[in-house]
Amino acid sequence: MSRHQSCLVLNAGSSSLKFAVLRRDEATEDLHQVLNGQIAGIGTDARFEARDANRRVVAQRRWSAEDSQRRPALLEYLLAWLGQALPEDRIVAAGHRVVHGGRGFSRPVRVTPEVLAELQALVPLAPLHQPHNLAPMRALAASHPELPQVACFDTAFHAELPWVASTYALPQELSYEGVQRYGFHGLSYEYVSQRLAALRPELANARVVVCHLGNGSSLAAVHAGRGVDTTMGFTALDGVPMGTRSGSLDPGVLLYLMREKGMGADALEDLLYRRSGLLGVSGVSSDMRALEQSTDPAARRAIELFCFRVAKEVAAMAGSMGGIDALVFTAGIGENSPGVRAEVCSRLGWMGLAIDDYANGRSALEISADDSVVPVFVLPTNEEKMIALHTLAVLAASAPNGREADEGQPCSTARTPATC
Ligand code: AMP
Repeated sequence: MSRHQSCLVLNAGSSSLKFAVLRRDEATEDLHQVLNGQIAGIGTDARFEARDANRRVVAQRRWSAEDSQRRPALLEYLLAWLGQALPEDRIVAAGHRVVHGGRGFSRPVRVTPEVLAELQALVPLAPLHQPHNLAPMRALAASHPELPQVACFDTAFHAELPWVASTYALPQELSYEGVQRYGFHGLSYEYVSQRLAALRPELANARVVVCHLGNGSSLAAVHAGRGVDTTMGFTALDGVPMGTRSGSLDPGVLLYLMREKGMGADALEDLLYRRSGLLGVSGVSSDMRALEQSTDPAARRAIELFCFRVAKEVAAMAGSMGGIDALVFTAGIGENSPGVRAEVCSRLGWMGLAIDDYANGRSALEISADDSVVPVFVLPTNEEKMIALHTLAVLAASAPNGREADEGQPCSTARTPATC
């Protein structure tokens, strides 16, 4: 039986392991997602759920509190389940989302023991995420050493930021040791920029501001497909307010909290990452949809603050490029909230930007009014697909004659992982 070539994409967080399987269409060479899902509640009450391409739930399962702590066993369960669920697929590689590539990793890379050691050294730059991203790589390397793995970085898209965009006005020695703007959400920016160029080839060399607005939010200035500025910085705290993250604030606020409230690093981390943003301002929810449905005036204030800050950063990103030729909204809020898009754009009328209410209400591909000086788009992001594309490309490039994906020793999902 000839089987489909597929790529497993893993996005591991502190308490969740998100996954997707993308299958290569032999006729078009394009990749299509056949399954996705997650194991949530890892460490406490692990729950597995998988959905098919039509978003129908196809499997669910729960674990005891004790079993919920066995991370490698949960990963093995996922692989075994995939083997049964996709008997016609051969998983030829696993692609991992990795939050930080530091200065060294400016493109996706095949995972080796040396690469793992270098990524481990970057943990201090992203202590909340990086260790969790690396854990499944180690587990897979131990249990399935024949399965090629590729690390794809959220920072890589911003690796060529001009120095004026990446440098903080701090003493040089801190810059030398890596205290600088890195930027995140790079896989989303890359995907969206490529989609825009495919859909509107006349914008391939344009100055585009992309607003990735989700639970985590940031903006990027993208010129001819390359990142030239972005709102997130050394960490994913910087920039616009997010679901529970503060976004930028005067660093003097931290000094005040330390001196006057006796707050240490852990308390500040909790405040800035988990109790601020939309949740902190509204006191209602971190979730934009819930805020839009709320009648609480504080929920409305949180939305207004969010839109104000996003609009201000659109202008800042345009300034970094000396102009703007297109504006793109993506991610959960950007793709689904006509209200936020309308409010952000109405603050940018001075730029000659105007949206069409009907197109915006339907979240059409192009939502700008006919007389808008700048076209405005809504483009669904697909970080999983970007990771799978990178993973298969790295695999092909690192193979003799570019044929590794065909001739290597792929992990067969038709067999149990123990025999892959
Ligand atoms: P993400 O992190 O990209 O999954 O985005 C999550 C955010 O998108 C949450 O704040 C959601 O409330 C928001 N979101 C998703 N769907 C909608 C919707 N239909 N209207 C408003 N916000 C939405």
